[in-house]
Amino acid sequence: MARYTGANCRLCRREGQKLFLKGERCYSSKCAIDRRSYAPGQHGQARKKMSEYGLQLREKQKAKRFYGLLETQFRNLFEKAAKKKGITGENLLIMLETRLDNVVFRMGFASSRKEARQLVTHGHFTLNGKKVDIPSLEVKAGDVIKVKEKSQNSPKFKEVKEMAISVPSWITVDVEKLEGKVVAIPRREEIDTPIAEHLIVELYSK
Ligand code: SF4
Repeated sequence: MARYTGANCRLCRREGQKLFLKGERCYSSKCAIDRRSYAPGQHGQARKKMSEYGLQLREKQKAKRFYGLLETQFRNLFEKAAKKKGITGENLLIMLETRLDNVVFRMGFASSRKEARQLVTHGHFTLNGKKVDIPSLEVKAGDVIKVKEKSQNSPKFKEVKEMAISVPSWITVDVEKLEGKVVAIPRREEIDTPIAEHLIVELYSK
């Protein structure tokens, strides 16, 4: 599976905001955005006026990076979103949000989407009682995601049990059982990712 292997904090600095790619570090004083809130590179501190195209491009890059997708994966998802009924931009965000790796992160079972993807790929979860290892899988309303019995005693998930978890309205979690349920597919207003999706639609519609 192709994935980005460069420095995560550079991505946040490029987008000028926290993308929460490194778990706990993102909430600490070590966060690079808090220490150097300008773009990386030699001209990072130069003030530039962004063109309309530049704004659209940055928004697409931000969304890709937030959810940890590469260009082809993101473009394919956009094509699928465009074929669905409804508003393409909203469809795209909902599809990103209902990826299994994102849902595992939202349930509080991983400290970042990157870690969630790794945990899913390594087979630590079941979906409706069956083993699952595909991070891009789209969950549905009613789906139950659970940490596999064998993995429940690992230090990682013991730690999860000790944490105070806060989840979005479309998800419920039973921390003791290390189990979560997708109560409903999220509506746009329930997705707090700071993305102006109409800019992405404009970019891909050129
Ligand atoms: Fe981004 Fe987290 Fe690095 Fe801060 S610590 S710059 S939020 S990846």
